[in-house]
Order: sequence, then structure tokens, then C-alpha cells
Amino acid sequence: MNFVNPFEVKGNWYKGNLHTHTTNSDGEATPEEVLEIYGKAGYNFLCITDHNKITEAKAPENMLFLRGSEKNSRNHIVGIELQEEFDGEGLTDQQIIDRMNLQNAIVIIAHPYWSGVTSGELLRLNGYLGIEVFNTVCNRLLGKGYSTVHFDEMLQTGRKIMGFASDDTHSRKDAAHSFIMAKADSCTKKDILASIKNGCFYSSTGVIIKNLEIAGSSIKVTCPPAEAIDFIAFNSSGKRFTAEKGEIEHAEYAVRGNEIYIRIEITGRNGKKAWTNPLFL
Ligand SMILES: [Zn+2]
Ligand SMILES: [Zn+2]
Repeated sequence: MNFVNPFEVKGNWYKGNLHTHTTNSDGEATPEEVLEIYGKAGYNFLCITDHNKITEAKAPENMLFLRGSEKNSRNHIVGIELQEEFDGEGLTDQQIIDRMNLQNAIVIIAHPYWSGVTSGELLRLNGYLGIEVFNTVCNRLLGKGYSTVHFDEMLQTGRKIMGFASDDTHSRKDAAHSFIMAKADSCTKKDILASIKNGCFYSSTGVIIKNLEIAGSSIKVTCPPAEAIDFIAFNSSGKRFTAEKGEIEHAEYAVRGNEIYIRIEITGRNGKKAWTNPLFL
């Protein structure tokens, strides 16, 4: 399973956050308020994932609202479009994931770095689509926003997972920093969920990727002026591209064949980032 390159399919770009809390658990804003905040910030879809509770809300006309919930065991596990709440008390991580899958939810492991879990523990679990490579609130409170090392340690074993950037909004100040950009025909539940499942998205904290072209053994990326474009792969494969002077706006990587996987990470201005999903050779 390779991700669908969103730059190679027809459709429109839709911006969304998949991990949000409200006053129904430990969030600061009401469901209607968070939907409004994200709508005004240019987001097209939002999943509310209160702890152990499926929040219902009426979204503004221009927003797609997705139901969800976050369950805590050893890991924190987010279920997107969970249909029915279940009691997660005493269940193991795998049991929670399995229960979510029975309801056809999209399962994402939240903030592994914050949770203090190792990639080895994550590799023993199955049935989830990906992990959060970045989490806004974990970064704001503890500087533990990035789980990219977990991501790479898992990918280098050949494990096919996606990377998500999520706000995990608790305070209003967490809102509208991280997002995924999904390519879909329309901003309907059906199309957005299909895009996510197919990996037809990238994650970001502010860098908008202009193009990603994969042709034969060449991978080309174009982006706004950035500090660095990294092609991250197994061990010493891959490469960092920087400009000799000033900023870089495109890079082309020639695949050598020993990478196992390649994912692109862009470091833009003011520490903003973008992460593509991994491409497997
Ligand atoms: Zn959590
Ligand atoms: Zn959370």
C-alpha cells in the first residue's frame, strides 16, 4: 500500500484538523465555538474527539463535521467517524483499536512522544492507519510535539503507516495551527474519509506544498521559500537539500533503491513544517 499522491489526482484541496476537544471533555471552547474558530481560520473539516465521548454538533454551512472520540490506555487512540461510544475502561490498546475498527472508524495513534511509548510498542499494535507526527498542544505545553523519530523507526521496518499533524485542541490558543491537506472531489464525509484512508493528503503546520512529482526514479518537490527540503529514508539513504544562499523552493531526489521508504519533510519559514506520507519502494 503506497499512499495516493494527492498531487497526481484530480480534485480540490481541503484543510482539516482531526483531533479536537471541547467543553464536553477537557477543552476550553464549546463544540459550536471550535467549529466556528476553525471555519473562520479557513479549515474545511473538523473532527471533534472528546475523551470517551462522541460529541454531536451542528457545523456551520461551510464546514464538514466529523464525529470522533479519544480513548486512553497505554496509548491515546483517536477514532475518526466512530459511530457509537463504548466503554474503554480496562481495555488494552489493541482491544480499543479493534473495537474502533468494528465500527469502521479511522484509527490514529495520538502523540506517541508525549505518551512515552516506544516505536517497538507501536509496532506490536495493528489496525491503525497512522500516528501523529506532530501535535500542537504537546508541543506548546512540553516541547513534545514531534514524533517523527517514532515514525521513521516504524517505517524503516517496512511498516506502512501515515503521518498526521493535529492540534489536539484543548485551549483556544491551540486552535488552527496544524492540519492535513486532503485532496478530494468534494468536501463530503464520503470523499474526505476516502482521501484520508488512501493517504491522499499531507500534513502541515503552515507550509503549503506546491507540487510533488514522482516519475521513474526521480522525486521532485516544489514549495514556498524554505530553509530545507529533506528526503528522509532508511539509515544513511535520503538527503537534505538547502540553498547555498537564502532559501530553497524545489528539490529533486534520485532514488537509489536502498531507501525502503522515502518521505519528504519541508522546513519553511518560522519553523513551520510539512510532511508527506511515505512512499515505499
Ligand atoms: Zn491524548
Ligand atoms: Zn486529545
